[in-house]
Amino acid sequence: MKFSIHQDISNAYCVLETGEPLDRKGASLLADIPGDAVLDLASLAHKVRLRYAGEPEGFHTCSIMNAKSGECGENCRFCAQSRHNSAAIDVYDLASEDEVLAQAAEARAQGVRHFGIVTSGYGYLKMTPEFRRILAMIDRLHHELPGLNVCASVGVLSKETAAALAAHGIAHYNINIQVAPSRYGDLIADTHTVDERIATVRLLREHAIPVCCGGILGVGESMLERIDMIFALAELDVSVIPLNVLVPIEGTPLAANRTAGLADIVKTFAICRLVHPRKIIKFAAGRETVMKDFQGLLMLSGANGFLTGGYLTTRGRDVSDDMKFMGQLEHFSGELP
Ligand code: SF4
Repeated sequence: MKFSIHQDISNAYCVLETGEPLDRKGASLLADIPGDAVLDLASLAHKVRLRYAGEPEGFHTCSIMNAKSGECGENCRFCAQSRHNSAAIDVYDLASEDEVLAQAAEARAQGVRHFGIVTSGYGYLKMTPEFRRILAMIDRLHHELPGLNVCASVGVLSKETAAALAAHGIAHYNINIQVAPSRYGDLIADTHTVDERIATVRLLREHAIPVCCGGILGVGESMLERIDMIFALAELDVSVIPLNVLVPIEGTPLAANRTAGLADIVKTFAICRLVHPRKIIKFAAGRETVMKDFQGLLMLSGANGFLTGGYLTTRGRDVSDDMKFMGQLEHFSGELP
């Protein structure tokens, strides 16, 4: 009996050889490979990650703080913080500087390199008192925790607020397009458009702020639509791509959504790596709670980063457990310890 690798995976080895991104045709063909070929694809994506996105940082780790929770007027279907949904969550106004500082200091002490301040809501188009408080928080973290990469995710920005953020210095700004732009209105929200979010990405890039922008898997999209999202991110030239797996939350329209199939999620991570050989691809929500036993497999399918220490409205696992996990993943980096 002859054993051989699937032809479409074999063709994609050009990414490993050249470091050039896989084209759309190659990515679309990989979306159709059968289940018994998926680990071969994961293996290729892992090798590409090691060759082109392994150094100098190793795994990228970040923690976030939900600094303002709930009462959001937007109607994102997956989100527990939307006023249109009825999820039972803690609702609170913007946290104090001291609270944010304490949480950032704890993350840094545990070895986390990036810390993101996140707020619920549409965003900030004007220099409101609340937005100025966020800028002051950023300054305080820079001053008191030198070496920590301070990030922010506070929604849609205007020219004025993007310029202000740039002036205060942030490592990354997170704003997700979530799905293929053509499906945003029916799969995610219709109280705002994906174009407003894309305009924010472009504003940030004008100020040379590295953007963290990705999406969520399992909200009803097809594999080809995932590939559309992956290529939309390439056009936006983002630096970090967070991939979330839907955590269905009671009280949201997606509460009864079945998790996207595991093999398709592995394929999506791997294809994302082949289209973005040098980017940070970060496994965000759903890693422990939805992927459970298979989170390690996902981390060996092209990802080189993860969010640790809890999400916006759902818990993660302890950072110390994740740090051990990261050490174990390094066993697959070529030289055995
Ligand atoms: S994802 Fe953000 S904008 Fe959408 S409902 Fe949740 S908090 Fe509001």
